Amino acid sequence: MSAALNPKRTVAELKELRALTADENGAQRVAFTKTWVATRSWLRQKLEALPVEIHTDAAGNLWATLRGGSERELLIGGHMDSVPNGGWLDGCLNVLAGLEILRRINAQYAGKPPVTVRLVDWADEEGARFGKSLFGSSACAGSLNMEEARRLKDKEGIGLPEALQDVGVDFEHVKESGKELKNARAYLELHIEQGPVLLDLDLPLGAVLGTFGVERHAITFHGQAAHSGSTPMNRRKDAFLAAAKMSPEIYQIASKGGVCTIGSCTTKPGIVTSVVEECRITLDQRHLDASTLARMLQEAKEASARFAREGTVKVSWDRLWQIEPVLFNADLIRMCCEAIEETCGKGHRLPSGPLHDAAEVARAGVPAVMMFVQSLHGISHNKIEDTKEEHLELCVTAFDKLAEKTMAWLARRAS
Ligand SMILES: [Zn+2]
Repeated sequence: MSAALNPKRTVAELKELRALTADENGAQRVAFTKTWVATRSWLRQKLEALPVEIHTDAAGNLWATLRGGSERELLIGGHMDSVPNGGWLDGCLNVLAGLEILRRINAQYAGKPPVTVRLVDWADEEGARFGKSLFGSSACAGSLNMEEARRLKDKEGIGLPEALQDVGVDFEHVKESGKELKNARAYLELHIEQGPVLLDLDLPLGAVLGTFGVERHAITFHGQAAHSGSTPMNRRKDAFLAAAKMSPEIYQIASKGGVCTIGSCTTKPGIVTSVVEECRITLDQRHLDASTLARMLQEAKEASARFAREGTVKVSWDRLWQIEPVLFNADLIRMCCEAIEETCGKGHRLPSGPLHDAAEVARAGVPAVMMFVQSLHGISHNKIEDTKEEHLELCVTAFDKLAEKTMAWLARRAS
């Protein structure tokens, strides 16, 4: 029986969604708002045309389940929410591609695939309103910090628990959504790359190896304030000089395939007529390999101590945030590459700089993988975010092949 996959329909539905939820500044599907609720009912309507069970879990994630011959589940996940003034593809591309794949599987297997297939729309992936990304997936995966999340407030002073109540979610019970993963055996997520790697290689699709680990620190150099006119250059304890030397150094440190960013620099007293007494910079370092990331951090610490010594100033470090790299499943990565090669000849393996829901699911122990499709301009979280329509169609086709391979993989592992 020929499969009924129609990638053009996905592109048409993405445009339909854009017409419904974007204004002249971009997508406005911010989680827990009216537009988001409207987005969800639009999606539900589409899903109701299929013989799937639809429900919202304890964390507000929307699930559509097509029961198969086995209880073992293949999950396809994404997010319908966007940042304010967001792009038309971030998150929803995956959900709508997943919808199309559900239609194909339902048609091909006459409503009864070999394994159970579920589509999940995670709640509040972006964290745009409360500053906490991956809310729904981290609640489901069990890694959500309840103390921290309970205290989150938006710009108007509305707390996260209150906002959740408005959409029928009881904050204190969000982790009960964890039971949704009980039979999950594989998780697939398709996403726009949001960076320029595939664009620069002129390739439409890539298989994602995992998400970067992150080390985020504040580094403070302590010198001595002194008059800018009366203090000779050789008598200064210039905190800024030591901090400034870190700038070329991080390009050296990042040459191992990671990234390093000094995103902020503040000086005290911060006036034009004084040598800098105190200079605080922030350092964000990311790499896919935990030991390389640890070495990058060590090198930055050693460099800061060296520059402090050279300038007779002191240096101190504070960790702001940290997360380990999350590696995706090797079998799924291989199948993802095969699906890409069968669809468009050549693929590429790449890490993800941004975090995604897939990282939370993988941390919960479910084998996971992501597929990236090229982003034009390498830009996202912006209304100019875009991908060529032919690439959108290719990614739906390749992602569908990956879903089919994964179902066969799950069926094989069960026997
Ligand atoms: Zn996203």
